[in-house]
Amino acid sequence: MQKKYLMTPGPTPVPAEVLLAMAAPIIHHRTPDFSAAFAESISGLKYVLQTEGDVLLFASSGTGAMESAIANSFCPGDTVIVCRNGKFGDRQKQICETYGLRVIDLRYEWTQVVDPADVAKALEEDPDVRGVIVTQSETSSGVLNDVRAIGGLVRGCPDTVLIVDSITGIGAVECKTDEWGLDVVMTGSQKGLMLPPGLAACSVSEKAWRAYERSTLPKFYFDWKRYQSNVLKDTTPFTPAVTLVLGLNVALRMIREEGLEAVIARHARLAGAARAGCEALGLKLFAPLEGRGNAVTPVWVPDGVDGKAIVKTLKDKHGVTIAGGQDDYAGRILRIGHLGYFGDFDIITTLAALEMTLAELGYDFEAGLGIKAAEAIFMEGQG
Ligand SMILES: *Cc1c(COP(=O)(O)O)cnc(C)c1O
Repeated sequence: MQKKYLMTPGPTPVPAEVLLAMAAPIIHHRTPDFSAAFAESISGLKYVLQTEGDVLLFASSGTGAMESAIANSFCPGDTVIVCRNGKFGDRQKQICETYGLRVIDLRYEWTQVVDPADVAKALEEDPDVRGVIVTQSETSSGVLNDVRAIGGLVRGCPDTVLIVDSITGIGAVECKTDEWGLDVVMTGSQKGLMLPPGLAACSVSEKAWRAYERSTLPKFYFDWKRYQSNVLKDTTPFTPAVTLVLGLNVALRMIREEGLEAVIARHARLAGAARAGCEALGLKLFAPLEGRGNAVTPVWVPDGVDGKAIVKTLKDKHGVTIAGGQDDYAGRILRIGHLGYFGDFDIITTLAALEMTLAELGYDFEAGLGIKAAEAIFMEGQG
């Protein structure tokens, strides 16, 4: 037997309590039992999304919510600003182009943070901009973009909506939907919500509903109004992912019990320890100091070591799955996830396995320094 550890930023580990809830026999979705569960999940999602506005839940992966935001907010030919500094920003641009939008492309290196000043300038230069689209937590790079600052800019534009992909932000970093003026914020089940893949959710502000009323892009499965009119009756327009909704309620109760602030603080601590541990091994952090999220720690593969072999050895020999780099960074970076159901010893385990793997692959370093640095972070303030 080999014990397996899933240390990726999605899918993420699922707590036993959630798995057990999902092992119950299926119930019918047009019943008071399911309606009660569904109402609870919408209320819990409002809590994690920090909104009093509407929240819609889809049976889809996160990309479904991304596509819904575009199809429900715009008309063909509308101009949008897409801020992209990673794979998921690239995907936003692809979706916008697929729907025939005119894209003002604010493109950055994956190691850079989106500069809100560029967004301000682009908004000023083109008064017809109908949307600004940004990824809060870029899972491909670990970069955290300042959606609060961008929210402050877009708030002053009555006909422009701010669409935020916070799929690995929610539950890991602060994301104050209402307070920061974020019109659409999306999340997905297999990330901070500690569930298997298959659910996506988004918030919809009043301004976003006005954009919806004006929008003429075609939509059917992801038509927000279909969902909203059903949410009001505690149900869904199509067959919901019943099992996942039951699991979601258990996960949301766990988050409420810990408290959202404490959940975010735990992620900050885990991220701090992962970074300290990697740096102590001589690995260079990929994301810049001014924009590091809490969901994932990407590091450069050290010179002379085969990056793909690190990921493969970790998985095959030690049972630890981490993520490699995507697109241009395949084989060049490693990404250690610590999003959702993670505790201190998950970081220690991952670092220990990484140290053993690096030693096996001939990297020259002093073994033990990584876990020592992480331990020091965990012991801080514990007297
Ligand atoms: C995971 C993720 C998505 C959605 O991906 P799916 O595979 O469709 O669930 C979108 N944006 C970010 C930043 C993500 O991490």
